[in-house]
This record gives sequence, structure tokens and C-alpha cells, in this order.
Amino acid sequence: MRNKSVVNEAREIQIAVDLINLGARLQLLQEETNLSRERLLKLYKEVKGESPSKGMLPYSTDWFMSWLPNIHSSLFMGIHQFLVKNANVSGVEALIKSYRLYLEQAEVGEDEPTLSITRAWFLIRFFEAGMMQLTRCKECGGHFVVHTNELCDEYSCGICRPPSRAGKTRKAAQLAAAMA
Ligand SMILES: [Zn+2]
Repeated sequence: MRNKSVVNEAREIQIAVDLINLGARLQLLQEETNLSRERLLKLYKEVKGESPSKGMLPYSTDWFMSWLPNIHSSLFMGIHQFLVKNANVSGVEALIKSYRLYLEQAEVGEDEPTLSITRAWFLIRFFEAGMMQLTRCKECGGHFVVHTNELCDEYSCGICRPPSRAGKTRKAAQLAAAMA
């Protein structure tokens, strides 16, 4: 039976609006609230002024392993794990709070963030499923996202060992400073 409490419903609408403002896809809203698809669609159009994208969700774990996405994902997961451990938050609340902090730390500004909130949500699920975890870089001591089956003691991160094509960009240097 659906929960008809007005307070609960108001809370769920607030969560949905927060998620929409942070760029969440419709499927994420359906998973994280008990609001009907019709209400979520209406809400989405009201907040964004347009219908949600209908494309495929980004399911792959490989994306998180490529160079810049890995740095951003590691920054996000570090924040998320810190908040869950120290700020007594969990679930969708932890997702929203850590994603906001990630946007601040990564100094995204008006640009499209490298890590979307939908990917951040998947990333948390991959961690919960034990498919991915953080490991320590032996050079800088920062913690980075790796596949669980690829764990090793001799890990060097993408900031310490950037691929030649990536170079040491200003953005990467800023992120490295933020993670130290
Ligand atoms: Zn490193």
C-alpha cells in the first residue's frame, strides 16, 4: 500500500526536486522515491522546463576506470564514504549531500560535471555490490576507485601517472590538491 502521509510526500517531492536540479535521470527518481512516474514527469517538466532524456542509462563500470572519470569518481566516493561514516547520513540523502560537495570541490561552475549524479548513483551501487572499492595510491596516498578484482599493493593513481595524452592539466592539478 502506498504511503499517503502528507509529510512523507512533501519530503519525497523535495528529494525529487533536489535530484532533478542536480541533473538526475527519471529512472533514478523512480528508484529513490515512491512518487508515481506521472507525478515525477510533471515535476521534472516543472523544474527543468523540458521532458527528461529517454536515452540508455550509463551502466558500464569501465567508464569509471578511464583517466579523468576515475579522478572525479574517486573524489566523489571519498566524500561519500566520509559523510556516511562521520555525518550520520545514508541512502539518497548521502547521495545528494556528497554530490553537492563534489560539485564544489571539482569547481564545476557552469560546465557539465565530468561525473553526473546518475553515474554517481551507479557508482555507489557498484560499491555496495562489492564490485568496486577504493585503494590507496602508493605515491600520493590518495584513495582511488578500482575494480575489486584488480586490487594490488602497487597501485599508482591517474594523477601520479597520467597517460601521456592527458598531460598534467591545471584541472587535474586542482583535483589532486583537493584530494590530498
Ligand atoms: Zn597518486
